[in-house]
Amino acid sequence: MSTALLRHFIDGEFVASPQTFANISPVDGRVLGQVCEADRSQVDRAVTAAKAAQSGPWADYSASQRADLLLRIATGIEARFEDFVAAEVADTGRPVQQARTLDVARAVQNFRTFAELLRQSGGEIFEMRGADGNDVFSYSVRKPHGVVAIISPWNLPLLLLTWKVAPALACGNSVVVKPSEDTPSSATLLAEVMRDAGVPAGVFNLVHGFGPNSAGEFLTAHRDVDAITFTGESRTGATIMKAAAEGVREVSFELGGKNAAVVFADCDFDAAVAGVLRASFTNAGQVCLCSERVYVERPIYQRFVAALKAGAEQLKIGYPDEEGVNMGSLISHKHRDKVLGYFQLALEEGATLVSGGGIPQFGDARDQGAYVQPTIWTDLPDHARCLREEVFGPVCHIAPFDTEDEVLRRVNDSAYGLATALWTRDLKRAHQLSRRFRVGMVWVNTWFLRDLRTPFGGTRLSGVGREGGRHSLDFYSEITTICVNP
Ligand code: NAD
Repeated sequence: MSTALLRHFIDGEFVASPQTFANISPVDGRVLGQVCEADRSQVDRAVTAAKAAQSGPWADYSASQRADLLLRIATGIEARFEDFVAAEVADTGRPVQQARTLDVARAVQNFRTFAELLRQSGGEIFEMRGADGNDVFSYSVRKPHGVVAIISPWNLPLLLLTWKVAPALACGNSVVVKPSEDTPSSATLLAEVMRDAGVPAGVFNLVHGFGPNSAGEFLTAHRDVDAITFTGESRTGATIMKAAAEGVREVSFELGGKNAAVVFADCDFDAAVAGVLRASFTNAGQVCLCSERVYVERPIYQRFVAALKAGAEQLKIGYPDEEGVNMGSLISHKHRDKVLGYFQLALEEGATLVSGGGIPQFGDARDQGAYVQPTIWTDLPDHARCLREEVFGPVCHIAPFDTEDEVLRRVNDSAYGLATALWTRDLKRAHQLSRRFRVGMVWVNTWFLRDLRTPFGGTRLSGVGREGGRHSLDFYSEITTICVNP
């Protein structure tokens, strides 16, 4: 990082605040630096700058010029690829390899994808015969909302932030972004890239801080914010929805999950074990799409539990840059306390502990870090809180099932509705069953594979709306229909 004090980026300049908070390494508890906390007046300045940018040179950029700018931003991230990797790893404790192949690589891809989509997107045109016999044309044009507030979480900080910044800019909006207080570094680097790529002042603004009574709340409450897009916990989404109700502003929410994997006896067994292992323990289980509930058809249940246990116990937990490391720390000690609370609750609710369940001992500085063991439970009743609430840690529960209808009912019996993964060789069954899950996304014989042109989002507690491909362009635009009677 270029500085140990992370500042806001407002109207094209980095600015500090008197109030700061510490950025703590989850790997060993070290203080990495200080982060400025925006007060209400700084958030107001950021929103005001974003609003003013809507009537500055940015308003005259053609779609093609905006696409060129997105490509310059992508190239700018690539030019500082290892800085972004270092920032992401320092804040989150994740394996360096993951930051390279997933987080930063996807950030580049987000900008390239939306540049390409922007060039290909067009409006609609309809022709009809009017009462006077004229041929009447109705067509639609897309325009930006104006100021979009983007609030992002800590689990995939750069990936999720750029997933929203790229289409918001593609559609001509100006943005004020508020990254998670736990992961301020990569967003600050992104501001440097924006400046260096020539993004006009006020088009991209960044404020640091917390949620309630801090930058997050000040931003969502601001009356000059025209639309709000948020990724994070479902109950935070509910709070933001109330703020958005003032002024009836548009929202897009990507929220929590309590996702299921369903493994049929006819699956490719090794592929299913490897897939569920990834789906449960990638990023130490801190992905909204992770499978925390695993249902396995009874004939292969015992064998599957044994294989997943063996796989989990082979995962290497350690420093982000250790050779062959699979799992890093959790994001923070506060989050570890929450996850350990569920480990305790599971035992009280009658779980059998198959693997893990505690804190790994290293005998070095990592003992000050926020590590937990990959954990597997069985034997919980379906109504257990540990099967209903999102843990967001490296943990899954495995249960046997006997029939398709039964497993469908159990999977759908959840307040969440983000994703389900099916493991079967019977593609007819896969097609028929997939549409019956009450979720936004179903994977068949894979997990986490994303074509960025497809819609993404969840049902019920897992979110409102869809982003991805043209669905993002729809959310980040206003559409005006023009009817011409020649
Ligand atoms: P969080 O809701 O605690 O925080 C997310 C962001 O919201 C942070 O920037 C935070 O400062 C801000 N915030 C908190 N309270 C606020 C308020 N009252 N007003 C405005 N802003 C506020 O979530 P988190 O712990 O950072 O992230 C983990 C959660 O995100 C999990 O539930 C996970 O499932 C979910 N998630 C969902 C998706 C998805 O695509 N559906 C993707 C990633 C993460």
